[in-house]
Amino acid sequence: MTAAATATAPAAKAGSGRPSPLKLFLRNQLAAFGAGLLLVIILLVILTPFLPLQDPAATDPANRLLRPLAEGHLLGSDHLGRDILSRLLWGTGVSLLVGLSATSVAALFGSSIGILAGYFGGRADTLLMRGIDMLMAFPYILLALAIVAALGPGLLNALFAIAIVNIPFFARNIRGVTLGLAKREFIDAARLSGKSDLSILLTEVLPNVLPVIVITVSTTVGWMILETAGLSFLGLGAQPPDADLGSMLGEGRKLLITAPHVSVIPGVMIFLVVMSINLLGDGIRDLLDPRLKSGALARPAPMTEVDRPSAQTAPSAQAVAAMSAKQGSVLAVHDLETQFRIGSDVYKAVNRVSFDIRPNECLGLVGESGSGKSVTALSLLGLVATPPGRIVGGQVLLQGRDLLGLDAAGLRAVRGDGVAYIFQDPLTTLHPLFTIGDQIAEAIRSHKPVSYREAWASAVKLLDAVRIPNAAGRASAYPHELSGGMRQRVSIAMSLANDPELLIADEPTTALDVTVQAQVLKLLDQLRDDTDASLLFITHDFGVVSEVCHRVAVMYAGRIVEIGPTEEVLSAPAHPYTERLIACVPRLGEPGRRLEAIPGLPPAVNKLPPGCAFAERCPHAEDACRQGEIDLDAVNDAHQVRCIKPRNGQGGGAA
Ligand code: ADP
Ligand code: MG
Repeated sequence: MTAAATATAPAAKAGSGRPSPLKLFLRNQLAAFGAGLLLVIILLVILTPFLPLQDPAATDPANRLLRPLAEGHLLGSDHLGRDILSRLLWGTGVSLLVGLSATSVAALFGSSIGILAGYFGGRADTLLMRGIDMLMAFPYILLALAIVAALGPGLLNALFAIAIVNIPFFARNIRGVTLGLAKREFIDAARLSGKSDLSILLTEVLPNVLPVIVITVSTTVGWMILETAGLSFLGLGAQPPDADLGSMLGEGRKLLITAPHVSVIPGVMIFLVVMSINLLGDGIRDLLDPRLKSGALARPAPMTEVDRPSAQTAPSAQAVAAMSAKQGSVLAVHDLETQFRIGSDVYKAVNRVSFDIRPNECLGLVGESGSGKSVTALSLLGLVATPPGRIVGGQVLLQGRDLLGLDAAGLRAVRGDGVAYIFQDPLTTLHPLFTIGDQIAEAIRSHKPVSYREAWASAVKLLDAVRIPNAAGRASAYPHELSGGMRQRVSIAMSLANDPELLIADEPTTALDVTVQAQVLKLLDQLRDDTDASLLFITHDFGVVSEVCHRVAVMYAGRIVEIGPTEEVLSAPAHPYTERLIACVPRLGEPGRRLEAIPGLPPAVNKLPPGCAFAERCPHAEDACRQGEIDLDAVNDAHQVRCIKPRNGQGGGAA
């Protein structure tokens, strides 16, 4: 291993993961505040027996209703002369304990019922859920009152009442989650492996529903404490002389005008306890919710944040724009840089990428998964989510106009009109509840002021153009009624709706089987010809590139490492990475040819090594490859490579 490699190895290890959960949690200031406040309250409660406080039940009629800061009574005294501070601390302890216990009981029984009902389904589900429905049919607080009335007043009974009325809440939530899990393949696999139901429930189902249970608990504890306080307030919970926050509030109620502190003090404490628990609960939910795990607690903005050096937005940039217009490219990308900032890590997903696409040309963008192809494509129209994504440099010129300088409204006008996307999985990009004709018509009407009838007619024409048989009839079909290949044709029709200058197809055939893939490729190629649109075609498959692309750009770790005419790159690849990628494609009629996987993994884009990012995996690497920036050098007029020892076509496909 070289010195450079050994130096980067430990760093790569340390920075490989996301920020720790604690760090993420502390970054959420409200939740951290809640946790801190709750911690102080709990500490006070734990220390209460050891503090030099008066007996919370000791009455002293001579010193009734003392105001706060009176001698010997920091928070004053109540109508029987009892010390409010002492009662407050003891009462807070009782309220917390009862609230937490009630939540635990409700969570235990409710979740068990939910898991069993969801997992076994059928009769067990009917039986359990109808029982739960009966509980839910009573007004909530009335049911709690009825239960306490039946059991008799007292804290323990209030606890049971609150627990029982909250069981349905847990049962319903957890049943829903379990129901979804029970139909999943990994549960089937566990069944097929001969595991018993109990063991599946404990080892497969429970770990998956546990986060939901924790989230539900953390967001309901505060509510349960309030409910217990409510019952005590009505005189059904803590019985004199014992105090909890609710009963203190109840006792102070009659003196609200003459001695407001008696009720205000426990009221403020209830507020603080419940608020701190709710803030903490929200923080825990944000932490456990996989969609929020990246630390992005904010909603993504409608466009990617652009934060370029001022030189790139200044007049010199206009000159570049003019130049690209002169060359006649439809799209010219200069030094595009997109980064993801997660914690203190900066992921350079797109690293000074430049390319251009000429009228009616198809440019292929090829690379392994994770090389930055999709992020490049999404950056063009500001579709990368912010946070954590940011465009920190470069220009995207669509017919000479810098798209990165546009505001959200300007970009919206270009999206789907000047530039249209086709994505990998049409089932997720088409709306399941609208007919395909409706969806195409809507795409048209969002950019052109035409009537619905005209838009529908255009939609049918487009469906016909993408070779959907009986287009007029099929227009009123729903996405699920079509096959995968048909759906992708619909996506293509939709992308053509507004005669875009540029089509961006991100792995459009990856989800399709090989014969359908060939049809879709042929269709795309023909449509590009017929409509005069240009095409940016993203794929990881060199086999596909050779069928549709005039030129190809090879991407590795966020950079373009080679770009040139498809035939030339295929027959005489100049970069060792391209060479290895091409060697990975199986060819019919050459059974003896060895398929070589590329050893090693692409580097993490937050810890890029100096020099060539491919050096670690490259059989031809030498020390010079691991030092300094390596430029994109010309092999000939049309062909460039980022390598200090370009291959001269030996080892290429045709050689
Ligand atoms: P591909 O070439 O397979 O399309 P992508 O462009 O999707 O690769 O991803 C490029 C890099 O950017 C990857 O390292 C990926 O982990 C990172 N990346 C993509 N999207 C996000 C995101 N929302 N947050 C953080 N990192 C991301
Ligand atoms: Mg991708």
